[in-house]
Amino acid sequence: MSYVVKEIFYTLQGEGRNAGRPAVFCRFSGCNLWTGREVDRAKAICQFCDTDFVGVGSDGGRFESPDALADAVLARWPGVRYGRADGGRPLVVCTGGEPLLQLDVAAIDALHARGFQVAVETNGTRHAPAGIDHLCVSPKAGAEWVQRHGSELKVVWPQAGLDLDMLEQADFTYRYLQPMDGPLQARHIAQCIEQCLARPAWRLSLQTHKVTGIR
Ligand code: SF4
Repeated sequence: MSYVVKEIFYTLQGEGRNAGRPAVFCRFSGCNLWTGREVDRAKAICQFCDTDFVGVGSDGGRFESPDALADAVLARWPGVRYGRADGGRPLVVCTGGEPLLQLDVAAIDALHARGFQVAVETNGTRHAPAGIDHLCVSPKAGAEWVQRHGSELKVVWPQAGLDLDMLEQADFTYRYLQPMDGPLQARHIAQCIEQCLARPAWRLSLQTHKVTGIR
C-alpha cells in the first residue's frame, strides 16, 4: 500500500475533544465527497469544505510503505520523548480530505510502533479500520453514513437534512456541535449554543485554530 499525503505538520489540534493538544497533522489527499476543485463545489455532496486536500504539498509526500509514512510523521514530532502514558504521549491526527480512503491497519500499526496515539477525523462514509485510539466522525448531509460508533461525533451545524434526534442515537462517547463557518457564522454559533443548552448530550466545538491564527 502506498499513501498520498497533502501535508504533514506539527500544530495544536484546533477543535473537538482534543482541542489545544499538540499533535502532528497528517492530511491525506483526496475526498469522496468533493474533488477539492472550486469549479466542482456547487455539485459536490459536501459543499462547505474549508480545506485544501488536493495533490501533494511541499510538506506532504508520496509514501511507498506504512513505515515510510510513519517515519515522516515521527520526523515532525519535536525531540521530546515522554515515558508516561498520562496525556503526554505523542498524538497524530489523520485527516484529509477523507483519511479512510487510504489509512489502513498497517499504517496504524506503524504509527503505534513509533509511540503515537492515532486520532482520525472522518466523514463516516467508510468503516474505520481496527486500532484507532480516537475516532472522530463528522457525518455530512446527503452522504452515506456507515461509521456510527466512535469516540467523538462532531456535527457541523446547521446542515439541512441532518437530524439531531437521529444523530443522538449513534454510539459515541462525546457529541459536539460545531458552527458552520462562513458569512452566517454568528447566527450558526447562536444556533449551536441554543441546541447545546436544550440538549445537554451535545457540547459546543469552536475552531480555535481560526481564532488563534495557527495552522
Ligand atoms: S467530507 Fe470533509 S474533507 Fe471532504 S469535502 Fe467535506 S469537509 Fe472537505
